[in-house]
Amino acid sequence: MEDSRKKPIMIGVIVVCLGVAAAVTLMRGSGGGGIDAISDDEMTWVKCSNPACKAEYEMSLKQYFKGINERLNPTAMARSTPPLTCKKCGKDSLFRAEKCANPSCGAVFFRDSVPNDLPDRCPECGQSKTEESRRKRMAGGQ
Ligand SMILES: [Zn+2]
Ligand SMILES: [Zn+2]
Repeated sequence: MEDSRKKPIMIGVIVVCLGVAAAVTLMRGSGGGGIDAISDDEMTWVKCSNPACKAEYEMSLKQYFKGINERLNPTAMARSTPPLTCKKCGKDSLFRAEKCANPSCGAVFFRDSVPNDLPDRCPECGQSKTEESRRKRMAGGQ
């Protein structure tokens, strides 16, 4: 009787411990360290969500993550990525974006632009890098 009552408590303790471990790992992941592993040559597209600006440009991925880290509030569990300051309009409305791999399109768009679809689906021409690479992999396998 005693033993069977203890078991659920033990499981509860283990689950809590795992949760804490996961949280610590996440905090470490966004706290630095990992950023220095990013190559200086690595670039990412960013786009300004200010409707009066809509600037699109490439920036260093390392600088991007550094900017995000400076803006993250360590005491609050960040649910969404904070915006960076746009170099064109100076507003905090700059988010990471994808560039369409379709050479005749080349649109720069935010991930998850198309609801319930692949995050890198281009809202302009409908191409998705993920889908393309999947298709290539399938074609190569035949
Ligand atoms: Zn802007
Ligand atoms: Zn496109």
